[in-house]
Amino acid sequence: MRTMSIDLQFHLRVRRRLRFAIALLATASAGALAQGTATIGAPAAAESRPADFAACLARLRPDALAKGVSGEAFDQHTAALAPDMAVLGFLDAQPEFVTPIWDYLAALVDDERVADGRAMLAQWAEVLAKVQAEYDVDPATVVAVWGVESDFGRRFGKRPLLESLSTLSCYGRRQSFFRGEFFTTLKILQEGHVAADKLNGSWAGAFGHTQFMPSTFMRLAVDFDGDGRRDLVDSVPDALASTANFLKRAGWRSALPWGFEVKLPAGFDASAVGRRSKQPASVWASRGVKRADGSPLVQPREANAGRGDAALGADTPSAILLPAGPQGPAFLVTRNFDALYSYNAAESYALAIAHLSDRLGGGGPFAAAWPTDDPGLSRAERRELQTLLVKLGHDIGEIEGAIGARTREALKAELAKLGIESDGRAGKKALLALRSAVR
Ligand code: CA
Repeated sequence: MRTMSIDLQFHLRVRRRLRFAIALLATASAGALAQGTATIGAPAAAESRPADFAACLARLRPDALAKGVSGEAFDQHTAALAPDMAVLGFLDAQPEFVTPIWDYLAALVDDERVADGRAMLAQWAEVLAKVQAEYDVDPATVVAVWGVESDFGRRFGKRPLLESLSTLSCYGRRQSFFRGEFFTTLKILQEGHVAADKLNGSWAGAFGHTQFMPSTFMRLAVDFDGDGRRDLVDSVPDALASTANFLKRAGWRSALPWGFEVKLPAGFDASAVGRRSKQPASVWASRGVKRADGSPLVQPREANAGRGDAALGADTPSAILLPAGPQGPAFLVTRNFDALYSYNAAESYALAIAHLSDRLGGGGPFAAAWPTDDPGLSRAERRELQTLLVKLGHDIGEIEGAIGARTREALKAELAKLGIESDGRAGKKALLALRSAVR
């Protein structure tokens, strides 16, 4: 991470911002993120093609050709292109409030996603075994990334990449970064990996089952089904293998666990914690850190998640993570957690994948409770909350478990009627209050 290029750092920030915007909308999907655009900016009319946009494309053409895009491909794919000014709203969006990690995890790792993930493990068992043989990343981890990134292919994002990335190449901050992604998108089309009408994704250009940015696609996507195309939209084998390839290149080691929940001794000095503060596991053991069930940190063999012989050694560099401070669950994490982190540059995101992978392997919820008396809601509970709001007469749009601005406003108004002050956060207390109001 220390040696990464400026553009990669920005790429990660974009991904983090994207993820944050998604968390802001209290959903795990880029598709639902697109749904939120209506409140941020009016979409450009299809026929509108400002003169400055046409002039910008003309200026970009020689640069694209210098990067290996053919003149024919450039002209073909930009002839009818119109800017989508709504994406600029996302580039500069400031979050309204910070989503607590327990809300984030409650929606990303709920019973529904665990059940769906287990079904996918069974359905794609043969491909996942081949992927493991080739890249040395276990099926549960690969499927967990898939579930968190695109809900197993249900949510890709709906914005045409060419529109979003050409707009971001001509307007707003960081045009040089997005130009690179725009040119790479043209090369993906030129090489025939994905058809133009299927190349839709997030506002920033992440697309397909794996939600790779175009540059990440170029570096790391692989053709695993052998049809000659690296297709992250229509080929699940390509997508699963590309995810495993990403993790392998990010430093994943199958001999290690990602980590596990731990119990800190009373009076533990929390000043030396954090993902980057790695120490041999024996050092943490000597400071009294134990596994959540009270057993020693270092054991000959891990018992969880079907990861074969993965085991923490006494000398394994590991760090202590306290995602909600010293009062919440604590985790010991290895370099494999860093590999998950590099997928999206957010620790909450990495923890969601890590935890989902454990749950897919039969693991249970965390032993320690989050430091709140108002836990987060699963997607099923979010849909129930939205259904109750509709019964109470609110128009909140489509009920799909994504908590957007309209749901929050309706919730705030309804709770005010019940004498409950709220910022519109959809938590357990709000759900219980609505249930009793409708009864
Ligand atoms: Ca393929």
